[in-house]
Amino acid sequence: MATLITRIRGVHSTKSLCRCFSSKVNNEQSNPVRGMKDRFGEENRRFQWINDKGAKIAGLYGFDQITTPILEYSQVFERTLGVSSDVVGKELYSFEDKGGSRLTMRPEGTAGITRALISQKLYNDLPQKFYYSGPMFRHERPQKGRLRQFEQFGIEVYGQSHASSDVETIELASEFLKSLGLNSASLEINTLGDNASRHNYRTALTEYLSKFTDKLSEDSVNRLTTNPLRILDSKSPQDIAILENSPVLSDYLSDASKERFAFITKTLEHMDIPFTINPRLVRGLDYYQDTVFEFKVTSRLLGAQQGTVLAGGRYDGLVEKMGGPVGVSSIGWAAGLERLSLLVEEDKIPSSARPIAIIPVPDRGGSNFSVELDEKNSNSNSRPSVMALHSHAMSVGAALRAEGLRVEFMHLTGSSSSKSQLPKQLARASKMNASHAILIGTDEMQMGVVTLKDLDKTEQQRCPVDDLVRALSAQ
Ligand code: ATP
Ligand code: MG
Repeated sequence: MATLITRIRGVHSTKSLCRCFSSKVNNEQSNPVRGMKDRFGEENRRFQWINDKGAKIAGLYGFDQITTPILEYSQVFERTLGVSSDVVGKELYSFEDKGGSRLTMRPEGTAGITRALISQKLYNDLPQKFYYSGPMFRHERPQKGRLRQFEQFGIEVYGQSHASSDVETIELASEFLKSLGLNSASLEINTLGDNASRHNYRTALTEYLSKFTDKLSEDSVNRLTTNPLRILDSKSPQDIAILENSPVLSDYLSDASKERFAFITKTLEHMDIPFTINPRLVRGLDYYQDTVFEFKVTSRLLGAQQGTVLAGGRYDGLVEKMGGPVGVSSIGWAAGLERLSLLVEEDKIPSSARPIAIIPVPDRGGSNFSVELDEKNSNSNSRPSVMALHSHAMSVGAALRAEGLRVEFMHLTGSSSSKSQLPKQLARASKMNASHAILIGTDEMQMGVVTLKDLDKTEQQRCPVDDLVRALSAQ
C-alpha cells in the first residue's frame, strides 16, 4: 500500500508535467544562461571606457592589439593550464563540434595568444607585445564579480627575459588601475623561483602537508600528488589554517632567483610603486614561474573571494611547452572587467554627448506618405513634398553628424497630423536629453533656414542651414 501511495504521489499528471516543461522552456527562452549577462547602456559604457583606458596606456608602452578566436582546440588549454587546475579540472566549457573536433571556449587569454605566436611564427620577430580584451568562459559558481562569461583586459610580452621587463609589466598594470581611479588597489608580489628552487620547495611542502591528509580539503589531497604548490592558492578555510605553518618558498630559492627578485623589489621601491611581498602567493594556473603578482581591492562591492582585480606573472616555459621554439620568455597579466566596473566611481565615466533632435514638420498629415502623391505635388511647383522635406531634414542631420555632432532624427509616429505631433516630439527630445531641437517645416525648407530651439532655455531662433554648425557651437 505504502508503495502504491508513493507511486501515486510521485506520478505527475500530464498537465502538470506540461506546465513544468513549458515553464522551463520559457525560462530558457527568455533568460540568459546562468552566470552570463546582457550588458547595455551605462554598464556597457563603463566596460568600453575601461577597455579604452587599457588600450591607450598599453599603446603608450608600445603594445599592439591582438585578437584571437574564442574557440580553440581543447588541447591548447588542457596541455598548458594544468590538468589539476580548477580551470581545466572543473570549469572548462568544452564540446565536440559537428566535425568531431574537441573544442573549448577560452577560459583565459594567454594560452590562445601563445598558440597564435607559434601558429603565425611571430616568434621570428621578438619582442612581441600585445594587449587584448574580450570574453572568457569558466563554469564557476556565479557570485558578485564572478561570472561564467566574464571580460578580461590583459597584456602579453614575448622575448623579454630581463627582470626590468617584470617591473615594466607591473608598472603598466599599476598605471592602468590608477587611470581608472583605483589608487587603493594594493600590489602583492612573490617569486616562484626557477625550476630547481620550485623542485626543492615542492619536496618540502609535500612532506609537511602529507601529515594533514585527514584535515585537508579533498581538492588539496588530490593536488598533493599532482601539483602541491597549487594548494597554497586554496580558498578552503581549513587548508588556509594548515598552511599558516607550512614551509615558505623564499627559504628554498636559488641564489639566482633571489637576486632576480631583489632586483624587481628594489626597482619597484625606487619607482615608488608600493607593494607587499606575499610569500604564499601562487597563481592558479600551471605555467607560472619566477615573478607572480596580484592587485587586490577590499570592497564590499566585491565578494570576499573576489578581491583580486588584476593578476599575472612570468611564464618563460610556455612557448616551448606549446611546441614553439626554446627560450622565448614571456610575462603578462589580466584584469577582470566585471570587478573593475563595480569599483570605478560613477563620475569617472564620461556621459555620452547630448544629442540634437531634428524634427520634420510637414504641412500635411503624417500618414500621407504616398510617393506618387508626393511626386505629383512636387511637380506642381507648389509646396515641397513630404518626401522632399524628409530627405532635406535628413541631409541637415547628415551635415551635423559630419561635424561630429550626435543627431537624433525624430521620426513621426502614427497617423495624427504631423503638426499636432510637435509638442510630443519636443517632449521626447527633452527626455532624450537633447540640447537643441531643429524644426524643419516646408516654409523653412523653401527659405533655406531652420528653427533652432534651445531646449534648456526654451528660446528659439531662425537660423540659415549653412550657419547651423556655427550657431550650435556658439551656444
Ligand atoms: P580568482 O582567484 O578570483 O578565481 P583567478 O586566479 O581564477 O581568479 P585569473 O585566471 O588570474 O583569475 O584571471 C585574472 C582576473 O580575471 C582575476 O583577477 C579576476 O579579476 C578576473 N576573473 C577570473 N575569473 C573570473 C570570473 N569567473 N568572473 C569574473 N572575473 C573573473
Ligand atoms: Mg578562479
